Formats: sequence, structure tokens, C-alpha cells
Amino acid sequence: MESTTIKKTFSVIPGLNMGLFAPKDFQNILNIINKYDVPRTKITGAQRLALLDMDQDEIPKLHKELKGYIRPQVSNGVHYVQACPGSKWCKYGIADSLKLGENIEQIALNKPLQAKVKVGVAGCRMCCTEPYVRDIGVFASKSGWTLVFGGNGGGNPRLGDIVAKSLTDEEILTLITKCLTVYQEKARPTSRTARFMTRFGIDALQELVLK
Ligand code: SF4
Repeated sequence: MESTTIKKTFSVIPGLNMGLFAPKDFQNILNIINKYDVPRTKITGAQRLALLDMDQDEIPKLHKELKGYIRPQVSNGVHYVQACPGSKWCKYGIADSLKLGENIEQIALNKPLQAKVKVGVAGCRMCCTEPYVRDIGVFASKSGWTLVFGGNGGGNPRLGDIVAKSLTDEEILTLITKCLTVYQEKARPTSRTARFMTRFGIDALQELVLK
């Protein structure tokens, strides 16, 4: 019987603009992937691109060639921002989730976060990017944005808590910054927001961020 050796080599390409590609960029990325003979690719759940089963030595060279198509990694420690097509591209969209996602990536923080912070932004209440199970979840309704904090969709899942509703773009960016600052100051090292919120509680968070 023939045995198959599974090479568990993979690389995830970050910074691909929340999964949004211009077709010509997509073609160029594909040309580069073909040049390096990458055996398999995958669009990940986080709207990024995974290159699977490739030769470890080739990864740095390939990354170098892809650099022009990759946005610099966010410096605020946010692990990734996932955003749905929103009002720009979806018939149900009420607000521009892609624009807000870009602005969340740019939030400036003065020190590192304790652990991964994943962000899901949805352009309507259908919540296609699963904001209730992201560290930071945002969705739009007719009255404005709702902010959810402390969700997790992993092996120990938790629905995030609603921090505030009916927020403008500016208000929600300010509020996210405040929530992340409280998390930085009060959470235990390596604690994800879900575990932090279970311990700290939504009332205590709102007390600090909504005054
Ligand atoms: S959350 Fe709403 S706006 Fe976003 S993709 Fe889903 S249905 Fe469309």
C-alpha cells in the first residue's frame, strides 16, 4: 500500500484588504503563486489567503514578491479585521462596513494587546461576519452601529456583550479604542477578551467607557 507523506507547511498572507481584490491584482497574485508552484491555496475564514503544502525555503521569496499586494500589518496588535461587503456591495447593507473595518485597523494604541483581538464588522443586523463571536464585533442598523465586545467562537465560545448602540462612525471608533484600553489595563497577560469579560463584566466595562 502506498503511503502519503503530509507536509504541514503553510503560510498565511495577511493584509489582503478584508478579502477585497481588484481582478488584476488577483491575477497578478495568481501568477506569483504559479511561479512558485504552490500546490494548494485556501481563502481562510478570516478572509486571508493561505498557501498550503509549499516548500519552506520558497516562502520568504514568495512573500517578497507578494509585498506590493499586501497592506502593512496593522501596528495596533489587532489580529485581523473581517468585514462584509456592506452598503457598497450588498443589497441589505445599511452602512459601509469595509470603510469602518479599514478605520478600525488604523486605531492607534500605545502598548501591545494581551492576546489576539479579532474583529468582525457587518453592514446590517444579519451579522454575516459573526460579530457576536469576535473580540470586537460591530454591526449596523438604521439607528447606527452597535458595538459588541468579548465574544469568542473557539472551543470555549462566548457571546460578546453589547456595549452601546446607535453609534456614528466616529463614536464607535472612540468607543472601541476605550474598550481596548481598558482591556490592556485590566486583563491578565495572554487573556483573550472573552475570558476578561467573563471576569470583569459588562457593567464594569460600561462604567469606564461610557462616562
Ligand atoms: S451582514 Fe448584511 S450587509 Fe453584510 S453581507 Fe450580510 S446581509 Fe450583506
